Amino acid sequence: MSRLELSRRIALRPNDAGRLAGALLAMGVLREGPAKPSTGGRPRVPLEIDPERRHVLGLAVEPGMVAARRVSLLGEPAGEPCELPANDAAQVVAATRRHLRRLADDQTLLIGMSVTGFVDPDARKILLSSALPDSPAVSLAPVYQAAGPLPVLLENDMHALAARWVMTRGAAAAEDVVLALLGDGRVGAAMLIGGRPNRGCAIGANELGHVRFFADTERCYCGHKGCLERICSSRFLRGLDRRNRAGLIARARRMDASDRALRVVLDHLGMGLANVVNFVRPSRLVLAGPLSACAEFRAALAESMRGSLLPLLADRVIVEAWDPPLAADPAETAAWLALASLYCEEWNGHALPAAPASAD
Ligand SMILES: [Zn+2]
Repeated sequence: MSRLELSRRIALRPNDAGRLAGALLAMGVLREGPAKPSTGGRPRVPLEIDPERRHVLGLAVEPGMVAARRVSLLGEPAGEPCELPANDAAQVVAATRRHLRRLADDQTLLIGMSVTGFVDPDARKILLSSALPDSPAVSLAPVYQAAGPLPVLLENDMHALAARWVMTRGAAAAEDVVLALLGDGRVGAAMLIGGRPNRGCAIGANELGHVRFFADTERCYCGHKGCLERICSSRFLRGLDRRNRAGLIARARRMDASDRALRVVLDHLGMGLANVVNFVRPSRLVLAGPLSACAEFRAALAESMRGSLLPLLADRVIVEAWDPPLAADPAETAAWLALASLYCEEWNGHALPAAPASAD
């Protein structure tokens, strides 16, 4: 929209809106589009978000690796995805710093960093992560040091996925939403209350994966047995039925009615989800991840879950599937933390760094 339209929309005097637009143009966040024919008076020059000059950077700490990717201010990946192997705390810090040296420059606006597990952004620490199962808390001070003046938004990976969901699907802000990621040995959830991620006493996912059942699973990296994400795994499935060596995703895709071990996994997952819905009463339950992508399995799961819901809620909660494009690139998703922070008040606008010395 033009400066004049902008000033009307945000109820600012045209001069003030013009000054604001000027600052964002100088920063490379906005650019001027081709002038529209006017109906008398000066031609209107529309302003638009510039997807070419500035970018945000996504960093994702995942089991076995740290991934990084630049993403434009319109959410398009810029450049190739980049992954470095990392299997212990020192390697995670070193790999993240290497990514920063290569990809962060004076056109980088913000850095979104996601970690599977719990983080403490104030103390700049990873507290507990499936990426570092036997590690005590890890200080990320060297990462912040490498980022220099660039703000680093440290968050849980499910919150990053929720940021991407909010920004690309655009649910009504007033809705409460539970977003659940269902994979092989990996179950997580994020809870959005009125569009804001639920903060709790520690920044992590809403740990649906560590909701526990009386099931004899292997010990989880959290230290317990019976965690839902240990139940929802190929390992547990094979333990139930030693004759069938196929993995969870392959069996969920086939969805053979005679696969009783798969049914056990499915019913535990359905019960876990039903308990969450009964407890939270969300407007919407969004299912994502490789298990949810198996359509027949997802339908059976929804049916199993409905059986355990309060009937009143079963009629009201919307259950939907979401298959984000390129969801396999966690760094791209981490970059959405930065985009959500730029564009959504609910996601905690961060102070932007100063404009680069040369605007081009
Ligand atoms: Zn656990």
